[in-house]
Amino acid sequence: MTLVLATRNPGKISEIKALLPGVRVAPAASFAGCPEPEETGRTFEENALIKARAVSRYTGKTALADDSGLEVDALDGAPGVHSARYAGSDATDQDNIRRLLDALDGISDADRTARFRCVVAVVVPDGRSWTADGVCEGRILKVPQGHAGFGYDPLFVPAGCENTFAELDAAVKNRISHRALALRQIADVLKSLADLPD
Ligand code: IMP
Repeated sequence: MTLVLATRNPGKISEIKALLPGVRVAPAASFAGCPEPEETGRTFEENALIKARAVSRYTGKTALADDSGLEVDALDGAPGVHSARYAGSDATDQDNIRRLLDALDGISDADRTARFRCVVAVVVPDGRSWTADGVCEGRILKVPQGHAGFGYDPLFVPAGCENTFAELDAAVKNRISHRALALRQIADVLKSLADLPD
């Protein structure tokens, strides 16, 4: 079985490959003209399914997509599905971090709880689909720390840690992250599909 990954993020592609040994993986970008649908869903699950369905339909193969973001309790779950474009459609990671710090101005350490959430979706050519959810609890700092990773990593300290995701070794982040947890669950689904014809 070839699994087509509905992402153009090289970091995600290598993370997925490492978590799914023995599965033949191809990025959607290797299929000329493969669609990149807009993420119009109201939930991570809807968005992951939108992406995986579009790629499976176009390629005629099994597709995997993920959708993820940061939920901050003091902001009633924002930025949530809008995490990538929290500070606007062309926002950089720095812009999003600044907007989040502004939104949390005056909020005490105790009330800065948050979590990263990831939903992974797999869609097979006959239209059947599966999803898995991964959550990483933590808190938001008042000042960014560290330079590794991407997105909100410099502000996010996972529960039980003293360092932000941007200060942790990539291997450590990949053991505890929301994405790794969701991918580990979906790996079981993929094992049962592995003997499907291409
Ligand atoms: P997407 O799943 O690629 O749409 O990512 C959504 C957005 O959520 C990213 O652009 C980041 O801003 C944020 N995000 C998701 N996962 C992480 C993470 O592991 N670290 C930091 N930010 C993340």
